[in-house]
Amino acid sequence: MTNVRLALATEAASADRANEDFVGAIPNGVVVLDGAGYPPDLQTGCHHSVAWYTRTLGTSLLGALGTEDGSLTDALAQSIKAVASLHSSTCDLAHPGSPSATVVALRRTNTALEWLVLSDSVLVLDVDAAAEPIVITDERLDDVAADLRTHLTYHPSPSKAHGKERHRFQEALLQHRNKEDGYWVASTDPLAAEHALTGTVPIHSVRAAALLSDGASRLVDLCQLATRRQLMDILAADDPDELINQVRKAERTDPDGSRWPRSKAHDDATAAYWRF
Ligand SMILES: [Zn+2]
Repeated sequence: MTNVRLALATEAASADRANEDFVGAIPNGVVVLDGAGYPPDLQTGCHHSVAWYTRTLGTSLLGALGTEDGSLTDALAQSIKAVASLHSSTCDLAHPGSPSATVVALRRTNTALEWLVLSDSVLVLDVDAAAEPIVITDERLDDVAADLRTHLTYHPSPSKAHGKERHRFQEALLQHRNKEDGYWVASTDPLAAEHALTGTVPIHSVRAAALLSDGASRLVDLCQLATRRQLMDILAADDPDELINQVRKAERTDPDGSRWPRSKAHDDATAAYWRF
């Protein structure tokens, strides 16, 4: 195995809140998770925090990747099951508001780079065969959300009206979570792993890969302040920290979301950059 050249950065949305993203790496793999929970003033069957969930699932998944047995889908299914077993006796795991997470995972073998993407975090692959970096993201959550938003008017954040609307929206969204024809996230049902997008790329053809939570990919997809190529250039020339700096700088120019409508002014932001 050659040297691993991997850079990681993660930053909470604000200093007074836990970072619900997770990033971690082992010599042959890296994972990024972005946690989601129930609105804090509503009842859920789980007394664990979202940060606990992403941390616990992320470390379990890294362990499963390290064994190199079976597929990434298997590794994720095992990890979801393992985490569920840690709180099945104390929490009601059937509650739709149990903590959940998006997952992006990469594993390098001698011949291939294997990838897995579940829900709306972003994988960017820079490969020899394509002029532009390839973006892989699971759009099912966005599709469901877009349908629901047709019934809701947008309130720029942060305002009380927006908070209420957001609760209604989140509750409506939860009705479609981990359902056929809905969207899939890692939570308490290992079956979600089967619905992840997966693929492999010959290892000799990969130049670099980036794993981003949607709080970090904003610079490209929401704000459109950088192309995919510029994104990879920022990561290569500077580091993932600089990408997050640029996201925060952009967000500060638009605190009320009038230029870039978004559910949160700032979001936890995580980026991992792996150069091959
Ligand atoms: Zn729990």
